[in-house]
Amino acid sequence: MLIDTHCHLDGEYFPEGADETLARARSAGVTGFVCVGVGSLAQTEAALAITARRPDVWATVGVHPHDAASCDDELEAGLVRLAAAPRVVAVGEIGLDFHYDHSPREQQQKVFRRFIQLARELKKPIVVHTRTAPEETLRILTEEGARDVGGLIHCFSENKAFATRALDLDFDLSFSGIVTFKSAVDIQEVAAWAPAERILVETDSPYLAPIPLRGKRCEPAYVLHTARFVAGLRGIPLEELAALTSQNAQRRLGVSAVLN
Ligand SMILES: [Zn+2]
Ligand SMILES: [Zn+2]
Repeated sequence: MLIDTHCHLDGEYFPEGADETLARARSAGVTGFVCVGVGSLAQTEAALAITARRPDVWATVGVHPHDAASCDDELEAGLVRLAAAPRVVAVGEIGLDFHYDHSPREQQQKVFRRFIQLARELKKPIVVHTRTAPEETLRILTEEGARDVGGLIHCFSENKAFATRALDLDFDLSFSGIVTFKSAVDIQEVAAWAPAERILVETDSPYLAPIPLRGKRCEPAYVLHTARFVAGLRGIPLEELAALTSQNAQRRLGVSAVLN
């Protein structure tokens, strides 16, 4: 039993549709999927549509920091409407990406703040994307009262000092394939150390396939490799890691694993 707490499955990434990808993951023991809705309104609607008639798929709705510059009033209004849907379990991914800077930083911060407010209005947790902006991310989460709803830091790629502060703000740590990379020493340290009730696993598919599949198009079935690696870091059996991260996902996002 494993839950992929962050995957992109809409037609932008899986033009052949999600069915076969989901079937492969279910065969590998993945019993829940949180499908991220970001991009245009149509793309977000497509992500949300994947949850229909699939009781093991849930969605999030937000504005990726890369897209902050294209978030106008019309898109915002549409996303606010979609985010209220019952199958939408969180607002996100939202945050700051000062590595790529695809959108002006000022605009990234403005959109990030706006959608934290939305999460608070909807009383839904927040899925945070943060890259090369640790201080700014923590400052905005603090200033906007994100602690009231909490959430998770997706694709955790910071250090222990950041992790400690994120945990204090009621944000769990979700580990992607990056944790399996040889160079990811800081992330591995956090994955080994973090409290058992505060860790999650994800693929961020189609990106960041874990070792030994690095370079391939990532898909939710691969979360197994990340889970096995994190279990090894913590010195516990895979089954125990799978059970505890699934419980954590259930508690944080309200997604309950469906046995197939
Ligand atoms: Zn992200
Ligand atoms: Zn993502």
